[in-house]
Amino acid sequence: MNNDIILVKLGEIILKGLNRRSFEQRLMNNMRKAIEPYGNLKVYCLQSTVYVETLDDDADLDGAFEALQKVFGIIKLTRAAACAKDKDAIAKLAIEYLREDMENAKSFKVESKRSDKSFPMTSIELSQYVGGLLQDAFPNVEVDVHNPELTVNIEVRDLSAYVHAAPVQGAGGMPIGSNGVAVTLLSGGIDSPVSTYMIAKRGVRLIPVHFFSFPYTSEQAKEKVIELGNMLTDYCGRMTMEVVPFTHIQEEIRDKCPEEYFTLIMRRFMMRIAERIAKDNGAKAIVTGENLGQVASQTMEAMASTQAVMNLPVLQPLIGFDKTEIIEIARKIGTFDTSILPYEDCCTVFTPRHPRTRPRVSEVEKAESVLEIDALVEEALQGIERIELKHE
Ligand code: ATP
Ligand code: MG
Repeated sequence: MNNDIILVKLGEIILKGLNRRSFEQRLMNNMRKAIEPYGNLKVYCLQSTVYVETLDDDADLDGAFEALQKVFGIIKLTRAAACAKDKDAIAKLAIEYLREDMENAKSFKVESKRSDKSFPMTSIELSQYVGGLLQDAFPNVEVDVHNPELTVNIEVRDLSAYVHAAPVQGAGGMPIGSNGVAVTLLSGGIDSPVSTYMIAKRGVRLIPVHFFSFPYTSEQAKEKVIELGNMLTDYCGRMTMEVVPFTHIQEEIRDKCPEEYFTLIMRRFMMRIAERIAKDNGAKAIVTGENLGQVASQTMEAMASTQAVMNLPVLQPLIGFDKTEIIEIARKIGTFDTSILPYEDCCTVFTPRHPRTRPRVSEVEKAESVLEIDALVEEALQGIERIELKHE
């Protein structure tokens, strides 16, 4: 034994009573998919802890550990080493496995947990015993039970005993797929990758939809959105992005509608199309990166006129955030640097000089009534291109 493994503590799913089993299964499946690129690894669950073990020497446990930090439903995770459930084996392992941590720390304590109640020592006795031997092995490190720099954790469980240092934070949230499916509107901006991440965090599987206005928006702009989508798969799992051709709709609006309504009418088309895609895929909501007051189309009146064309709920997880708060999350999830690449979005072509900010729904309806709305929606749906997003 003494092999290096990963121990994973489950998040909210512990609270889920009877559903716990299916949540655990779902989380483990998501974990397996996330670590698939890292070789032959085994994932199993015992007593509310999930274990990840290598099955051959080529498996990349470091890579797997990093990937698992982005899997929703995990609250904490740690690398650990296993040994026989024997006090001296445990002490020997702690001395070897945590040598570097011990040499770098000024103070330490040992904390033991015992879910195997047949183990012949209490947790406190075991901590004292191992602590004593660690102290002998590293005489320069002090014992400090109140405020230690290093906590040496020992867990005596079903199959083995485990030794590890401090765990790292997991991604939190709930496992993808445990809360249904939604369509997420993904532009190349800063906001929508963050809104996608936030709804995924609540356990929702997502279908990204991007509106593309070639040649007004470039191939590069599309590549950028694909790259953002690929990055998001680390959190969201595999996704297929639907790229909707939007040029004809935008040209029709430009040619036939009053300029001050351009953006509002365009957004109504986005919602109609997104809702059709949702219904075709069993999705129950539309996610956007809208943020109250940020731009002319994000006033309450403007959002009312956009949502008047649809029945599904619109989830706007960023509605009350400040831009700085959104950027902080974008940096954390790694999308920020790509989002700020300077390619135009379909929202920034044909923007009105003086947009209506407090429209009445009836005005917008009248302004768009010259268009063949149903036919335009159908045509856009027919032209959809589907792109498999993948972890890079
Ligand atoms: P973002 O930074 O996400 O682009 P934004 O602040 O620029 O947001 P808008 O351009 O008004 O705001 O767009 C509001 C929301 O509409 C976006 O967050 C996104 O969800 C959706 N959206 C905008 N443009 C597109 C597009 N080309 N394809 C898909 N969804 C889009
Ligand atoms: Mg935008």
